[in-house]
Order: sequence, then C-alpha cells, then structure tokens
Amino acid sequence: MAAKNLFIDVEVDDSIRSDAALAAKLEEVCPVDIYKDAGGTVEIVAENCDECVLCKLCIEASPPGTVHVKKLYDGTELS
Ligand code: SF4
Repeated sequence: MAAKNLFIDVEVDDSIRSDAALAAKLEEVCPVDIYKDAGGTVEIVAENCDECVLCKLCIEASPPGTVHVKKLYDGTELS
C-alpha cells in the first residue's frame, strides 16, 4: 500500500529538482530524512514526511519559494 501522509506534504519545484548541490544540502539539513540525494536529484521520501518537525532548515537552505512544506491539517504552508 502506498504511504499516505496525514499531516505534512513536501514538494520541491522543478527548477531545483536537478540541482546536485541543493540535493546534497537538503539531505544533510533535514533531521528526519525527508530529502534524499538521488544521484544529484532531489527526491522526497514520502513515508518520512509526517515526521517533519517544522524546523524550516530546508526552506532556509533553498532559494525563496522553491521548497514547500504543507501542513495538511490546517491548510497552511511553512515559510
Ligand atoms: S522543516 Fe525541517 S523537518 Fe521538515 S522537511 Fe524541512 S528540514 Fe525536514
């Protein structure tokens, strides 16, 4: 069965998906391993998304507006 996130959904814009430096950086900063550096491409580990601690490290590490951490429980987005 596919993982279903109940609380958090994470998305990255296509403009940064193939940014190898950022893929490595995101994998490094996220404390709960939501980002994976898949050979220079940013991959989201869906089954870890609900573990997000809302630390904003991924957002601070990325160009403005390119990483989206969506709180499914209240409809807002981390910024
Ligand atoms: S806010 Fe923190 S825990 Fe959540 S995805 Fe970003 S780096 Fe990971």
